[in-house]
Amino acid sequence: MKYCKRCVMPDTRPGIVFDEEGVCSACRSYERRAKIDWDSRWKEFEAICDKYRGMNGDGYDCAIAVSGGKDSHYQVHMMKNVMHMNPILFSVEDNFPMTEAGKHNLKNISEEFGCPIISLKPDIKAQKKLMRYMFEKYGKPTWYIDRLIYTYPLIMASLYNTPLLVYGENVSYEYGGADAVETYSAKEQLNNGVASGIDERELIENAGVTAQDLFLTRAPKQEDMDKLDPIYISYFSPWNSFANYEFAKKHGFHDLSHEWDRKHHVENFDQVDSRAYLVHSWLKYPKFGHASATDYAARMVRYGMVDRDEAIKMVKEHDANLDPLSVRDFCEFCGYSETEFWKIIDSLYNTDIFEKDSLGKWVLKSPICK
Ligand SMILES: [Zn+2]
Repeated sequence: MKYCKRCVMPDTRPGIVFDEEGVCSACRSYERRAKIDWDSRWKEFEAICDKYRGMNGDGYDCAIAVSGGKDSHYQVHMMKNVMHMNPILFSVEDNFPMTEAGKHNLKNISEEFGCPIISLKPDIKAQKKLMRYMFEKYGKPTWYIDRLIYTYPLIMASLYNTPLLVYGENVSYEYGGADAVETYSAKEQLNNGVASGIDERELIENAGVTAQDLFLTRAPKQEDMDKLDPIYISYFSPWNSFANYEFAKKHGFHDLSHEWDRKHHVENFDQVDSRAYLVHSWLKYPKFGHASATDYAARMVRYGMVDRDEAIKMVKEHDANLDPLSVRDFCEFCGYSETEFWKIIDSLYNTDIFEKDSLGKWVLKSPICK
């Protein structure tokens, strides 16, 4: 395992590329921002909005895929208050017990910005079956939910005749990943690896679900997809998770202060809606040797908020330590005992990069050092 010389990202992140100087593609993407002509990109953004504004009379003229988080607050503000569009919001709820912050934030967006939200509550029976199968087989328990987060807004934008569908950042481009091309179009997002690559037949044969159960996980027909114009706001305006957080806080967004001090994160404002969901994002750790603490520590270095040594300390202190409340909620939802849970986790460790220490704890063979 090699680590970026500038941030703390390892080369095990799927799709990330290191150059001859040992710097990762995410750091290079960030560096490239200084050379971008943001004025001309903003004009492109205005032209796109002008094309669709008012297209449905006094109905909705664009759609925004929202989670209720800090970035959603910023996206809705941009479209409604800055670009003067009339957005309708689509969200997918993950069915896990919600945090107080999560309950508040989705409602807050509607109340603060004055937009309706159409929220999908996925089929819980199918979700449980798919979670167990995808967790045990691939270490991707929330594949079903993540897939719906991609497909549902496309399906709904098609139904509501709002071709302009707005997303936040291009994750692959900003943070390193497969298909890391910079483009305003979010059309290829479905194929970025987070929720792609699973054959429906495999799920029907092995997970106990039917083709009907999977209906909403399918993208709209190609002819309907061709009519959509999904965009990333991060192409038109420099994206910064921390700036979005500062913005959102001033508009009523709640972080996890006084509610939950989660062990495996280094911030308290990203993915705050439920505890169980975080098991999925943490599973990058046994598979690839880094999780949310590395993601955020790397961003903090890029944004100039901490130096690399401080970031290394954060990674070492947090990344391996999945929070026990995430485990409890997850086990309760899926019907696992904690013993069963840890046995499955044990089977997911990548032994190319991990070994067990004298206490029986998994440790990286090449941990990050100065
Ligand atoms: Zn880097």
